[in-house]
Order: sequence, then structure tokens, then C-alpha cells
Amino acid sequence: MRYIGSVYRPPSEAYSLIVQLTVGCSHNRCAFCSMYREKQFFVRAVEEVLADLAWCRRQYASIGRIFLADGDALIAPAEDLLRILEYIRTEIPECERVSCYASPKSVRRKTDAELRALRAANLQMVYMGLESGSDDILRRMRKGGSAAQIVEAAQRVRGAEMALSVTAISGLGGRAQWQEHAEATGAALSQIKAEYIGLLTLMVEPGTPAFQWVREGTLQLLSPQEVLAETYTLLAHTDSEGSVLRMNHASNYLSLRGTLNRDRKALLDQLQSGMDGSVPLKREDYRAL
Ligand code: SF4
Repeated sequence: MRYIGSVYRPPSEAYSLIVQLTVGCSHNRCAFCSMYREKQFFVRAVEEVLADLAWCRRQYASIGRIFLADGDALIAPAEDLLRILEYIRTEIPECERVSCYASPKSVRRKTDAELRALRAANLQMVYMGLESGSDDILRRMRKGGSAAQIVEAAQRVRGAEMALSVTAISGLGGRAQWQEHAEATGAALSQIKAEYIGLLTLMVEPGTPAFQWVREGTLQLLSPQEVLAETYTLLAHTDSEGSVLRMNHASNYLSLRGTLNRDRKALLDQLQSGMDGSVPLKREDYRAL
């Protein structure tokens, strides 16, 4: 299997076949992200992707899930995506789910009819980063879109009946804006009502602007207890009936999982236990991205 550079996938795609449709990220400017900095973005030729899939078909008796990498594979032209999905449908019929990362830009470039056609061709789920519901924080973090634009893109994905997994990053507003971050992110998640909500915790990587800001003191990282207090406020402001909340990323100090709004009280109680020290938190040196 050919891979170009480092390849990333969401935690829930741990057992999926990863196939690169794009290389790098079409945006590649977020101040906290180092994932694709070494890569010059491009969309791979469909024939190459189909050849990779054909190779995998020969190697593996059963392929249950496929994740189309890299960042923002939804940016590929709809006809390319449809050819790939059609190949999977006919040659890998046991594949239950195809998914990829998406962004407000890649969703904006698709018509509603194209999104529905992709869903009908078995693109079942997309992952999208909200990161924060605060426009001020999104602007500072160079996300490339406002909260309203991200919410609109997310709602169009859901309108096409694709499952949606949205991530937010705890601590992204630093100490100065933790409350704004928590409340605005809870409000945005309440508008989106994604099937899945993933919460990561900010870790700054050398070479990123956020790393530099932390060194300069213009962005102050939250302590573990402050992260949990921020998450407590975020969840208290999130009304998203039926959303599965996962806080199981390697960056998190505490692992949480539950279904909103049903499990909100239990989730808040676990956060409280983490804040008052009655359950242990992940050690700093065990955290990772
Ligand atoms: S966070 Fe996502 S959109 Fe931003 S640079 Fe990284 S991969 Fe690209």
C-alpha cells in the first residue's frame, strides 16, 4: 500500500483500511495543527486510488470499513469520489462504511444533490472540526471560517443524511477565553446536533504558531483541573439530544463517554470527580496527539 508522508485518522477509524485520496490538508493553516505541515496539498489521481484499492482487495479477504485520508478528502471532485465509492460498492461489497474528513470549504463546494449522491453511494460519515464556537478564537486560530459557516456546513451534511462527527478542542481559548470558548462551543454543538461529538484537549506542537504563543505567554494553557471545569461548562451549555459524546482521545486528561442529553448528569459528575481529585487524571507525559 502506498502512503505519502504521515497519515492520520480519527480514533474511531482504528480498524479501518486507510486510503489516501488527498495528500495533506487543503487549508493547512490552523495555528494549533502540525499534522500536514510538511505536505503540499493535492488530490491524487483517481486511477492511483483505484489501483491502491485493487491491491488491498487482493491482499485482504474482508474489508469492513474504509477511511479516505488525508485531511479534507471531501474536497476531491464529486465525480472522483463517486467513481471511488462505486468501485468500493462493486469490488468490496462487504465494506459497511466509508468515511472521510470534511471542512466547511469542501462542503460549500458540493451541491446538496452531490452530497446526497455521495451518501447514496455509501459515504456514510464525515468528520469535521468545529474546534470552537467562538468566532474570536476561530479567527485567532486561523481556522478559515466562522462558527456560523461551520454550523451551516454541518447542517448540510446532516441534511444529506450522512452521519457527522464533530470535534472541539478543550483549552483552545486559553485562560483568557475559557468561558467564552465553553459557552459558544456548547451553543454551536447544540445547533449542529451531530451524531458524534469528540472532545480533544489542546496540546501545542513545536513549529506551530500556538506553540510560539505559549512560549511568549500570549496563550496560556489550562491546567488539567481548568480543562475539566471548562468541559463542565461546555456540557452544561450543550443541548444535543442523541449525540454520542466521546472524550477518549490520547490528549484528554480524563476519558468520558455517554449519550446526550440522557447522560449529561453522569458526565458532569465524572468531571466533578476529576476536578476534586477523587478520580485520577492522565499524567502529562502519557498524553499524545
Ligand atoms: S486542523 Fe484540520 S483543517 Fe486545520 S490545518 Fe489541521 S487538518 Fe487542516
